[in-house]
Amino acid sequence: MQSLLAKDKQYVWHPFTPQKSTLEMLPVKRAKGCVIELEDGRKIIDAISSWWVNTHGHSNEYIADALSKQARTLEHVIFAGFTHEPAITLSERLINILPSKQAKVFFSDNGSTSTEVAMKMALQYFWNKQEKNRKKIVAIDGSYHGDTFGAMSAGDRNAFSAPFAPYLFDVSFIPFPGGDQANTAIEAFEALAKTGEVAAFIYEPLVQGSAGMRMYTPETLNTLIKIAHKYGVLCIADEVMTGFGRTGKYFSSLHMEEQPDIMCLSKGLTGGTMALGLTTCTQEVYEAYLVDDIMKTFFHGHSFTGNPLACAVANASLDLLLSEECQSNLRRIEERHAAFAEKAKGFKNACNIRQRGTILALDFDTQEESSYFNQKRDFLYETCISKGVLLRPLGNVIYVLPPYVITDEELEQVYGVIEHLFNL
Ligand SMILES: *Cc1c(COP(=O)(O)O)cnc(C)c1O
Repeated sequence: MQSLLAKDKQYVWHPFTPQKSTLEMLPVKRAKGCVIELEDGRKIIDAISSWWVNTHGHSNEYIADALSKQARTLEHVIFAGFTHEPAITLSERLINILPSKQAKVFFSDNGSTSTEVAMKMALQYFWNKQEKNRKKIVAIDGSYHGDTFGAMSAGDRNAFSAPFAPYLFDVSFIPFPGGDQANTAIEAFEALAKTGEVAAFIYEPLVQGSAGMRMYTPETLNTLIKIAHKYGVLCIADEVMTGFGRTGKYFSSLHMEEQPDIMCLSKGLTGGTMALGLTTCTQEVYEAYLVDDIMKTFFHGHSFTGNPLACAVANASLDLLLSEECQSNLRRIEERHAAFAEKAKGFKNACNIRQRGTILALDFDTQEESSYFNQKRDFLYETCISKGVLLRPLGNVIYVLPPYVITDEELEQVYGVIEHLFNL
C-alpha cells in the first residue's frame, strides 16, 4: 500500500487538490452500497455520493449487469450517421419524465459539456433566427456550471477562475435570490430581461451546490422563469446536481409550474457509474435548427457522444430510480433529514439549517465569510474521515447528500459525526 501511495504521489495529479497539501490520498480497494473500503481495511460511509454522483450505491449489481451485457454487445460507435437502441431508449424514457416541454436530447460527456452545449444551443438559437441583439447570458451570483471556459464564464467569478478572468466572456449576474434578497434579485433580473438583449438565463434550480448548498424557494424561481418568458429569454435549468431525485422529485424543475426551455443533466444520470452529459430542449428551440440552411446546423460533438455503455448504465439507473423501493427511500431520507434538522437547531454554533429533498445542509456560525477557503475545512474533513464518514465541507458548510440506498443505521452514524463536530 505504501508503494501504491508513493506511486500516486509520483505520477498522479488529483482534481481540486493543492499539490503541497499535507492531506494524504486514501487508496480505495472497493466500494459497495454506501461503504468505501480502503486498502488498509478502514470503512468509510460515502455521505456525499462521491461528489454528488452516486444514487443507487457503489458497485450496484443491477447496473453492473447492464454494463457488462452492453460491453459485450456494442461498446461504442460513431454517433453521427449511426444510432443505437440504448441512446434511443434513454432519450424516450427521459422525455417522458422530464418537465413537459422537453422534446429533444443532445448527448455529451459530463456536466460541464452539458452546460457548454446548453449555452451554445441558446446563443445559436437566436443567431439562427437572426435576432442579432440577443447575445447576453444571465446567471446567478455564486453559481457553478462546470470548469470549462464557457461554464466558468457563467459561474461565480472567484479565486478558482481568477487566473482565467481575461478569457471569460461577459455574463450578467443577478443577486442570489434567497432569503430577503429575493425581490432585489427579481427586480435586477427584470431590468436585464427588459433590454431585449438577453439570450438565456442559466440557473441551478432551488439549490446552488458549489456555493455551499444555498437554497431558494420555488415561488421565487417560478417568478424568475415567468419574467424570462415574458421577455423572450430562454431558461436553462442546470440540473447536473439536482436531477434524478436529489431534491425529492425526479427533477428540481418539477417543483415549479413554469418550465425551462433547456435542461442540463449528468452526475446522477448514470447512477454515478459513468461519465455522461445530456442537454435537452423544447421543440421550439429545436425548430430553429430544423431549417434548410446547413450553416444553421449545430456543429458540436464529442468523440464519445452517445456512448452505448454510458447509455445502458443510465437506462439501468433509471429502472432503479423509478422503482417503488427507490421512491420510498427518497421519502425515508427526507423524513430522517427533517428530524435531524429539528435536532440540529439545538447545536451550539449551528445556523442556516436547511433541507431540500435528500440534501441537508447547515453552517458553522463563524464570524468569517462562508467560503471554500475557510480555515476550519481541513480540520472538519479529517475529523469526519477519522470517524468513518466522508463529508466534504464547503468552507464552513456541512452537508449530507447521500446515495439513496443509505440505511437508517448509516444515516444515524453520519448525523452522529455531525453532532460531534458541533460539540467540539
Ligand atoms: C458538478 C456540476 C457541474 C459540472 O459537472 P462536471 O461533470 O463536474 O463537469 C455543472 N453544474 C452543476 C450544477 C454541477 O453541480
